[in-house]
Amino acid sequence: MTVQDAIFAFDNSYARELDGFYIPWQGASFPAPKMLRFNRELATELGLDAGALEGDAGAAIFVGTQKPKGARPLAMAYAGHQFGGFSPQLGDGRALLIGEVIDRKGRRRDIHLKGSGRTPFSRGGDGKAVLGPVLREYLLGEAMHALGIPTTRALAAVTTGEAVERDGGYRRGAVLTRVASSHLRVGTFQYFAARGETGRLRQLADYAIARHYPDLAGTHDRYLGLLHRVADAQAALVARWMLVGFVHGVMNTDNMTISGETIDYGPCAFIDAYDPNAVFSSIDRQGRYAYGNQPAITQWNLARLAETLLDLINPDDGDDAIRQATEVIETFPDRYQFEWLKCIRAKLGLQQERPDDLDLARDLHTAMVGQNVDFTQLFRTLATTVRGDASATRALFNDPAGFDAWLERYRRRGEAEKRPSKWRADSMDAVNPIHIPRNHKVEEALDAAQQGEMAPFDRLKEAITHPFSRRDDLSEYALPAPESFGRYTTFCGT
Ligand code: AMP
Ligand code: MG
Repeated sequence: MTVQDAIFAFDNSYARELDGFYIPWQGASFPAPKMLRFNRELATELGLDAGALEGDAGAAIFVGTQKPKGARPLAMAYAGHQFGGFSPQLGDGRALLIGEVIDRKGRRRDIHLKGSGRTPFSRGGDGKAVLGPVLREYLLGEAMHALGIPTTRALAAVTTGEAVERDGGYRRGAVLTRVASSHLRVGTFQYFAARGETGRLRQLADYAIARHYPDLAGTHDRYLGLLHRVADAQAALVARWMLVGFVHGVMNTDNMTISGETIDYGPCAFIDAYDPNAVFSSIDRQGRYAYGNQPAITQWNLARLAETLLDLINPDDGDDAIRQATEVIETFPDRYQFEWLKCIRAKLGLQQERPDDLDLARDLHTAMVGQNVDFTQLFRTLATTVRGDASATRALFNDPAGFDAWLERYRRRGEAEKRPSKWRADSMDAVNPIHIPRNHKVEEALDAAQQGEMAPFDRLKEAITHPFSRRDDLSEYALPAPESFGRYTTFCGT
């Protein structure tokens, strides 16, 4: 029995149920696929034979050349608003869904390749990916997962043995295998809405409901229900992004999932110093996707999803459909605030709910503005403050006067808590990370990897997959970038 026969128990619902929503396709041939990193833990979770896949037999599969038994590789059709402008046809231009498996917990998961060659959706692109962005997506996805934030995850990074032209030079080619609860995007709905294909849209919406929100299946107002659920899932997601200082960087509607998972780690970054205007992406010149703008952009993207659902929400009365959908979109700020408050209460060690909590939490953020305060360290050291020593937190501020005033209010608020301070502080340590993928460390790891040196990648991965535990051997990963690192700019992962 060959490796392809052995290991995937595919159950390909997308290929089976959504004929016309994709183009069957297969991966390109590559000169010398080599497995660079394989996520054994995830493979095991997926019920795969990690031992059989982690070598070069797995590499041939995970570049897309070798089709494992039961796979039905396909390129998905989707559209999307990119930086506010609508493209009616994007689609998988360098990606393939090879199939779905049911994992050990009974969850359906997509196995998807990125960089596996040209497809009918490639437009002018070469269909390829290069090592740096592939490893970046690997690291960032694993970091998010370890932080408890919904995300796609990397299963494998394979080098192709090919040199790929980028920016006038050549880079090592690579393919990422990523796993998602699905690859349904806002842009998938937009593709069929833009073509006026209401029948297909209904089919897609019913498929999305069955897959992600099955309790809505068959209910008479399920399409409005779907919009509600996606709004809730995205509110929960983006609130969590904000509270770890994550900037996605390219929140186009084709990069926003229906499931509420983070997808497409391109020009993303984590903030060091708190700054609502933080932008890292070289192409985001207007700051559309700035850190502090992410909740508003999420709402904007949800409005685009709502537009695609109008004919389904009320086929007979367009005005009524608009009214119902608008109500959902207008409640997004409340949904977001609810999630944000829930998370920040945990970060501040507040179990009780008090009416002033929102102001207290916001005022902490206000106190950070212009102070060059490291966002991650601020929350982590607050537990020490709760334990009775505020010096580490105070030292993060250029001028701690504003923070001191806030701290007085926080102390008084703490008195309303029934738990002893020590317990509160311990609960804070469980949700406020020490290790995030610091930009300078990500760059260091990727630079080294491009020279064939994987140790920095592995060490960084060790740190970020243990975000909450202090480790003496990993102390350098707890620190912000040195001044010499300068202003950080990211580029789209093409
Ligand atoms: P992204 O910015 O990665 O979300 O991709 C946006 C769109 O561009 C998607 O339709 C991608 O499939 C497509 N795309 C990105 N890079 C390439 C490439 N190298 N070749 C072909 N299509 C690409
Ligand atoms: Mg994308």
